[in-house]
Amino acid sequence: MEQITAQKRINELRELINKHNYLYYVKDNPQISDQEYDQLMKELIQLETAFPELKTEDSPSVRVGGEPLPFFEKVEHRVPMLSLGNSFGADDLRDFDRRVRQNVSTEDVRYVCELKIDGLAVSLRYEDGVFIQGATRGDGSIGEDITQNLKTIRSMPLRLTEPVSIEVRGEAFMPRRAFEKLNRIREEKGEQLFANPRNVAAGSLRQLDPKLAAERELDLFIYGIGIVEGHPIDSHSKGLDYLEQMGFKVNQERRVFSSIEDVIAFVEGWTEKRGQLPYDIDGMVIKVDSYAHQGELGFTAKSPRWATAYKFPAEEVVTILEDIEVSVGRTGAVTPTAILKPVSLAGTTVKRASLHNEDIIREKGIMIGDHVIVKKAGDIIPEVVGVLAERRTGSERPYVMPAHCPECESELVRLEDEVALRCINPSCPAHIREGLIHFVSRNAMNIDGLGEKVITQLFNHELIQNVADLYFLKREELLALERMGAKSVDNLLAAIEASKQNSMEKLVFGLGIRLVGAKAAKTLSQTFLTLDRLVEASEEELIAIDEIGPKMAHSIVAYFANSAVHETLEKLRQAGVNFEYKGPRVEELPTDSAFAGKTVVLTGTLEQLSRKEAQAAIEERGGKVSGSVSAKTDLVVAGEAAGSKLKKAQELNVKVITEEEFIALLQS
Ligand code: NAD
Repeated sequence: MEQITAQKRINELRELINKHNYLYYVKDNPQISDQEYDQLMKELIQLETAFPELKTEDSPSVRVGGEPLPFFEKVEHRVPMLSLGNSFGADDLRDFDRRVRQNVSTEDVRYVCELKIDGLAVSLRYEDGVFIQGATRGDGSIGEDITQNLKTIRSMPLRLTEPVSIEVRGEAFMPRRAFEKLNRIREEKGEQLFANPRNVAAGSLRQLDPKLAAERELDLFIYGIGIVEGHPIDSHSKGLDYLEQMGFKVNQERRVFSSIEDVIAFVEGWTEKRGQLPYDIDGMVIKVDSYAHQGELGFTAKSPRWATAYKFPAEEVVTILEDIEVSVGRTGAVTPTAILKPVSLAGTTVKRASLHNEDIIREKGIMIGDHVIVKKAGDIIPEVVGVLAERRTGSERPYVMPAHCPECESELVRLEDEVALRCINPSCPAHIREGLIHFVSRNAMNIDGLGEKVITQLFNHELIQNVADLYFLKREELLALERMGAKSVDNLLAAIEASKQNSMEKLVFGLGIRLVGAKAAKTLSQTFLTLDRLVEASEEELIAIDEIGPKMAHSIVAYFANSAVHETLEKLRQAGVNFEYKGPRVEELPTDSAFAGKTVVLTGTLEQLSRKEAQAAIEERGGKVSGSVSAKTDLVVAGEAAGSKLKKAQELNVKVITEEEFIALLQS
């Protein structure tokens, strides 16, 4: 890059960052995510490093925080309150370790790892053990006097256990429960909701009326000493222990390590577990323990060289929605998908995200060209959760759903009570192909080697038109296809052959009857025992079964009334596909086990058995496994790193057991 272009970009970045600093630090009302902010800052620092002659004293890269608000008394910090350098992954931490070790005189480097509480930094002064003044960080040298507001925080000691004179630093924050309660009350009153606990905590402490702060149920963790008189402490970890003795609330999740690899394992562990904490953290802080080492490392203008903030990978990011594509599923439902400007999210690059249906596009007001917030739902499937309307430039276009099927051109319809548009042409190639893909999928007939690609290939070569055709494929036909060797053809044929022995529920699910999921397919199979009996079942008989509602009953009867379905079933029978249920019958399911009749939810990682094995074990004992926690859940089995489901269970007072307890119950 030429210097002149670099200067232009640097100016742009400085202006942007200053604007967002103001919104974040002064207004407590950020308009971009922290990840986006960090990205801008990273770019600025990279440019300033590449073009050192363009560095300036007033660049936001060397300045801390924001200006103090004018209507507060100003407090000058006796020891500056600095920011922290950032690390964005294991390699950054290894670089940090290398720099530390190169600059200290002894080899016994140890690191203290702490949670990075997402709140507002504060400094507290005590004289002879009595609290006398509290301040915000402000611009690092001058903060705002918020003594009265801080006094409303119950966990902040007004008097210490010893009459020491000390200045300490900590993070004031709002626990999630208090935040949720506050927003619930605001919702009831029709007031605007707060975006996140950090902004409320910061906003509440910077209110002129301490009554408001008192209502907000804030809390405070102390994480460091600014100045202490007459106490020879030689390391940060001892300092934290000392603070605890003095009566301060110090976070318990701190650990000391001597190897950076142990530090990395620890912070990565918290990346998974952070959802379980009752407050938000936005990363981990890693500090060199020995004060002598800290002294050797010193400071930059903005942050200590002996510490770094490890930022968690984003779970929510902002990117541009470049287009919307629609695809037709096996039931004919037309689903819009967002085509995104590729963006890194929780460790993967995301290019597409589901938009579910037209109503959601309308409700969220999504336009093509918008900046959108993308989140990984359940940490797997990316989803567009919202639009940043304030970032529109006027060039965005509204989206109109197509009126015709993108595959067969027939007119799309919206069935009564449904949100999705559907292509109802039964011979639409998209329907047929998606139906075939579903038939061979894992929870259905589970035919190995028959993925989306091969099915599409077979379908395009007109070797299969319906699911029964799979059982009449010939070896020579398959060998003639591109990229199909003799070995894979034989494996494929063997897998197709093996699937003939599947128990009935896999076939019932695989047929893709509208509204019949894997669980309903199992219940139907346990009740009717053979496909022939299910085919003849009346709506009344079906509705009489627990779990089968009138809509599903209607859909099943309508499906089996179709003559094309009959033809397919006859062909399947001829091929030798099993029509019978092979598992335990309803009346054979144990009624005396700890799981009989119980609804169980599995969450987190189980170590001794897979999810599938755990589910099978529960079902064999007469229980049911559900995917989400509700008031109807009887039991939650929480493995390692259990997240939101565990939290929900605790909120609803549902019994939670560990993996060991679960195994003990299975064995009992
Ligand atoms: P920082 O948040 O990266 O790190 C320093 C702060 O960490 C300290 O001041 C302290 O408040 C906090 N902290 C929490 N736990 C700690 C612990 N155990 N030990 C030490 N410190 C601890 O740096 P910063 O300068 O305060 O803020 C920069 C960050 O703020 C950015 O990286 C971004 O995430 C956010 N920000 C966002 C916007 C936005 O518009 N979204 C704007 C400005 C800043």
